Amino acid sequence: MMPLPLAAEIALAALAVALIVTLSIIVRLKKGKHQQQAVSTDAVLQDSLRDEKQKSSIILSAIQDGVVLIDSQHNIQSFNHGASDITGWSVDEALKLNVETVLQLADPKGEAYSTEANPLDRIFKEGEVLHDTSSMLVTRSDKRIAINLDLSPLKDDATGQVTAAVAVFRDVSQQRADEQRRADFISTASHEMRTPVAAIEGYLALALNDKVSSIDARAREYLTKAHSSTQHLGKLFQDLLTSAKAEDGRLSSHPTVIDMGSYLEQLSQDLKFAAEKKGLFTEFIFGASDMIDASAGANVVKPLYYVFADADRMREVITNLFDNAVKYTPEGKITIGLTADDSVVQFYIKDTGAGIPAEDIPHLFQKFYRVDNSATRTIGGTGLGLFICRKIVELYSGRVWAESELGEGSTFFVNLPRISSQKADQLKLEESKNAELPNITSLTQGMVQ
Ligand code: ADP
Repeated sequence: MMPLPLAAEIALAALAVALIVTLSIIVRLKKGKHQQQAVSTDAVLQDSLRDEKQKSSIILSAIQDGVVLIDSQHNIQSFNHGASDITGWSVDEALKLNVETVLQLADPKGEAYSTEANPLDRIFKEGEVLHDTSSMLVTRSDKRIAINLDLSPLKDDATGQVTAAVAVFRDVSQQRADEQRRADFISTASHEMRTPVAAIEGYLALALNDKVSSIDARAREYLTKAHSSTQHLGKLFQDLLTSAKAEDGRLSSHPTVIDMGSYLEQLSQDLKFAAEKKGLFTEFIFGASDMIDASAGANVVKPLYYVFADADRMREVITNLFDNAVKYTPEGKITIGLTADDSVVQFYIKDTGAGIPAEDIPHLFQKFYRVDNSATRTIGGTGLGLFICRKIVELYSGRVWAESELGEGSTFFVNLPRISSQKADQLKLEESKNAELPNITSLTQGMVQ
């Protein structure tokens, strides 16, 4: 579970204190009626209640984030000044109104949520803390602003039922606009720079081609170095472009049904040359326990491990993981493995290389993260490859992670949801129908012209 922001923690603590004190005082007040010292006890308790209420109200008004207490009927019971500043509703107006009237949430595209998808409704049904960093808030003057919203349920100890919820939110429009501008700049700059770099790379390749030009050994040496650096630069721009797109959800994807068995087998044939060039062995293990071995002479039944993903994007993931394995393995072996159960197809790329320190493993898939040690310092890289891999795998509801033993090697696993043969057939049928459509369109377009 992610930690709550400080403001949320303070607000929750203040509300919890106020609730507990209120409840205990009410209980005590009730009991007190039947006791002899009722009058003096009442006075003390009421003073203490007033004190606590004052304290929590001071804390709540000092918080600039919006803090809203919602009761089980989804009505607003507490609404601080921060909430008022952000939403445009005054405290008096908002109190006792239905929360969805005051906190009108919209999805990242600015469209209103359906009831089931609305976080303000989900918190009561799911009863789990929600961190929402993509919703928009429609203010009283109908302006859409980007917010970060944390919702925490308050539950009845005995029944576990959600009896109230606390919403803490913050206006992050400025921050999101800055991020967008940064991403736009990176993506435009890398797009523009890719073109001349590709041209330079092309001309260098021509200069190095014996059939086209003749150069002496020294010139060849220099041009070879220039060519490899240009290739590196081209890859960097491509990675920057892909990661900028991945971040704002513009990564193109055309998923189709892929049989991972034959797909990986084919791809490993293409990949293994890079490893062999470095003197590394490669192997491909189709490691399902339910596979009947071909050597047994019986009918060979290779189970079909279907996934629904974009084949080019998956190639990007596997190539990235394999290239890393080659890059960070001075000697030994690289294994590409595939296995599955009913719901998940898993493939992995295992190497016998340098390995990764345990403390770096949780950060590997972050943007620009590189392990900083003598083994990696001399090896070039951008720290974008694994970030892109994660973004692609997540597009298909999958998961990628690493396991490693320092000095022993690393294994990178990818899990993707498995689809059944029936589902695969159905999707393939739809794919073939869709593939026919453009022909019809182009035919009619031709006729109109
Ligand atoms: P880079 O361009 O630096 O390789 P990646 O995002 O692909 O960027 O990888 C991030 C970091 O993870 C690398 O800098 C390297 O330190 C570490 N790493 C990735 N794959 C391996 C591997 N197979 N063995 C050891 N370290 C690895």
